Amino acid sequence: MEGIFNKTLEEGNKKFPSGSSKFFTFEEGDNRIRILSVVQVFGQHYINGLGYKFCIGLDNGCPYCKGKYKVSPTYFVWVLDRADGAIKEAKLSYTVFKSINDVTAIEEYNFEPTAQGTFPYDINIRMIDGKKKGEKRSYNILPGEKSELTEEEKEEVRKLKNPMFMVEEMKTKALADEGKLVDVSEEEVEKVVEEVEEEITEEKAKVEMPF
Ligand SMILES: [Zn+2]
Repeated sequence: MEGIFNKTLEEGNKKFPSGSSKFFTFEEGDNRIRILSVVQVFGQHYINGLGYKFCIGLDNGCPYCKGKYKVSPTYFVWVLDRADGAIKEAKLSYTVFKSINDVTAIEEYNFEPTAQGTFPYDINIRMIDGKKKGEKRSYNILPGEKSELTEEEKEEVRKLKNPMFMVEEMKTKALADEGKLVDVSEEEVEKVVEEVEEEITEEKAKVEMPF
């Protein structure tokens, strides 16, 4: 049974997304989304136990570049999550983004985004988890029928910040976080990095995908 405030809660969450609802995450199986914006690439390091870390670049003293961690290209894009109708920040891996790109090349679908980058159709990203140990996740992208966004959705899309700006914001935050490491002795920083590096080698097969 639904509580009397269900609708209000849902609306509030849509208008002021916070926490996990602000970020798009893949579920096993169907993930129906509409790409809403142009895409901005940035680099990320995956650190076991710490999660994903924005790469500020070796020139800016990125501790993970110094630790010789692999940096993976990641693609920031705004998406409309059809699961709950909310607009979310998505950070897509190279693998997923490349598959989406391939779909836009299918002639029959006559791909024409809006000036802002909104796709003319939804896409369903079917995610299948690797069932055996060491087996990778796989993604199949299925384009939907051409469809218009509602006027309300279009209005929301117009208000979205440019992905380039969003990535700049992430960088500013990462640089500020990096500043906090100043108090830690060089020796400490190196120790932490070395320990994590050992773990990531063992766990490597499990962490190929950034979702
Ligand atoms: Zn880095």
